[in-house]
Amino acid sequence: MVAQPTRSLTVFASLEPFVAWPRSRLPCDGVLDRPLSTLPGVGAALERKLRGLGLATVGDLLLHRPRRYEEAVPRRAVADLFGEHEVVVSGRVTRLTSRRTARRLTIQKALVEDGGATVTAVWFNQPWLAERLPPGTAVRLRGQLRRGEFHVRSYDLEGGAATADFAPVYPASEEVPARRLRELVEAALPLARGLPDPLPAGLAEREGLPLRGDALAALHRPSSLAEAECGRRRLAFDELLVLQVGLARGRREREVALAPALGPPGALVQRYRGLLPFTLTPEQEGAIAELDADLARPRPMQRLLQGDVGSGKTVVALYALLRAVENGYQGALMAPTETLAEQHHLTLEAPCRELGVRCVLVTSALRARERTEARAALAGGEAQIAVGTHALIQRDVSFRELAVAVVDEQHRFGVEQRRSLSADRSPHVLHMTATPIPRTLALTVYGDLQVSEIARPPADRKPVVTSWVTEDRAGEAYRRLRRHLEAGRQAYVVCPLIERSATSEARAAEDEAERLRAAELRGLRVGCLHGRLPPGERRELMARFKARELDVLVATTVIEVGVDVPNATVMIVQEADRFGLAQLHQLRGRVGRGSEQSYCLLVSRPRERLTEAAHARLEALVRTGDGFELAEVDLELRGEGQLLGTRQAGLSDLRFTRLRADRPLLERARVVAAELVESAGPLDEEVERLFGERSGEP
Ligand code: ADP
Ligand code: MG
Repeated sequence: MVAQPTRSLTVFASLEPFVAWPRSRLPCDGVLDRPLSTLPGVGAALERKLRGLGLATVGDLLLHRPRRYEEAVPRRAVADLFGEHEVVVSGRVTRLTSRRTARRLTIQKALVEDGGATVTAVWFNQPWLAERLPPGTAVRLRGQLRRGEFHVRSYDLEGGAATADFAPVYPASEEVPARRLRELVEAALPLARGLPDPLPAGLAEREGLPLRGDALAALHRPSSLAEAECGRRRLAFDELLVLQVGLARGRREREVALAPALGPPGALVQRYRGLLPFTLTPEQEGAIAELDADLARPRPMQRLLQGDVGSGKTVVALYALLRAVENGYQGALMAPTETLAEQHHLTLEAPCRELGVRCVLVTSALRARERTEARAALAGGEAQIAVGTHALIQRDVSFRELAVAVVDEQHRFGVEQRRSLSADRSPHVLHMTATPIPRTLALTVYGDLQVSEIARPPADRKPVVTSWVTEDRAGEAYRRLRRHLEAGRQAYVVCPLIERSATSEARAAEDEAERLRAAELRGLRVGCLHGRLPPGERRELMARFKARELDVLVATTVIEVGVDVPNATVMIVQEADRFGLAQLHQLRGRVGRGSEQSYCLLVSRPRERLTEAAHARLEALVRTGDGFELAEVDLELRGEGQLLGTRQAGLSDLRFTRLRADRPLLERARVVAAELVESAGPLDEEVERLFGERSGEP
């Protein structure tokens, strides 16, 4: 295929325009896909062990990131060996002996001579050395003198690199020692050098990055830590670019899609504002102004509404839905779970009824007749608003004309689901999330969205007072709970997290509710909410709790998201140390939703059974209620790529990126991705193929 001319890239307007990305199959195509058995010395047994490390192909090996690098150590002549710290010596082997100890340990010793001085070098458990080090072999040893003998940490034969300063240290397994990995990488590196760079000619240079082949060489065989870092940055850039190209492609698709332009706000939303028992905060007004501007355009809105739990996003969401309705269209709100969908329906139904708007619930748990009815009402346009789970986007649900879709907690949806809601319908889409995502991460995951943020909750809100006690003092927590109930408040008790199954979790919750009814909560009206409850019962339970017919809701994490009962002001979380930080923050968000002071009591297992991380999580929760601060703590404790929701977003594949430090690199990747997608047609497959990795958007 012939390279196609491209428009010049505006970011680099002063420079030569790029030529199109290479479109032809390249001669060394497939090198990265070769199985490791094509490397010298790799037999079936070793191949199996390598697979245990997640290494199957040459490409996997080349992208195996060193955990760290050996530090530089001084070189010494054998005669000058002194033993104070690690050094490198060079010499020739004069004799090698091998000995087996009683405990089946083998010890190899070699006499190594340099310019007349001799030292005994010692290895443990490397029986194959006898073959590799016949007398006369020139070796380079890195190690330390101990009790007159030189204990070898790593060694090279002539031309090797393992003892070099900054030699890579790989995450290895017991079966494949680090040294063997080094040798394999050494053998694979020449193949990397021959690879074409997947970026357009000149781009790497302009971005101040090395070519990919050089980056791989620098990663595995740096001559300084700075060089290794330089290589890592290029590989991180590639990762981010693949991800951003995916996002840019989605953005471009939407740019050509059409959506109904809704014009300025009308009478219906004016009446809605009048119905609210409070005035909207400036933050909410800001978000509304931003989405009004989006809705006025004939292009589908893609906006992320980010705000901590309880900040008042749902109010804004209903506003957006009503904007569709007042223009003669329909609106849909999609939630990740049935409980949440039912809860939203409950919240939206009352104002909708006041406004004469019909709002239907669509979940897969509906009875056949209800579902048929709801479907018919949506298809015919008699129902203007639908609230539901992913059942909303199934084939059998059709809208007369959908103009606004709100997707709650989008990180819980697969990208596929998000797409299919908007693919054939092109409505305006508002994504809502309460997951406080550090800014860098948000750019990475949601790089294709405009962001509105509700940074502050309504003013009359008091921060939730959080305390942490161990189990032996749980009685105190329940006594406090009873006091609040006597004052007319309501409460949640969150059951321990059970990882086995939803069924066993449900059973445990019911048992716990039963136990509490007989003990700590005797005489109180206690309901039990879990994911295994039939939807009708669940809805009824929530409605009763909301109507204050129940005092306490004993629940599993199904209450984590969206449940909104302002009179519930106390929460006890049992075995709080088992929960993740983000999850506890979400749970805590169920209280503190009214103007009354709220309390969250975290009950953990005994201190001595807590991990350091669990300890840190609980302390952080007591210290702050700021979701963004907690997200940073979470990032700190868990490391990159493991944050809530990142797996779905494909971020768990980010291997070389340091999300916080690489912010500038991310910004560059965004710019370059946008330009690349603009300039050349179908290059995404090329990116994918040439990088030998899968594209960022799953
Ligand atoms: P989120 O969806 O962000 O978690 P919600 O929209 O459910 O938050 O709002 C939480 C609670 O705060 C609800 O009970 C809601 O009625 C109330 N609320 C929302 N906006 C305001 C406001 N401007 N002033 C007072 N209360 C508000
Ligand atoms: Mg909400």
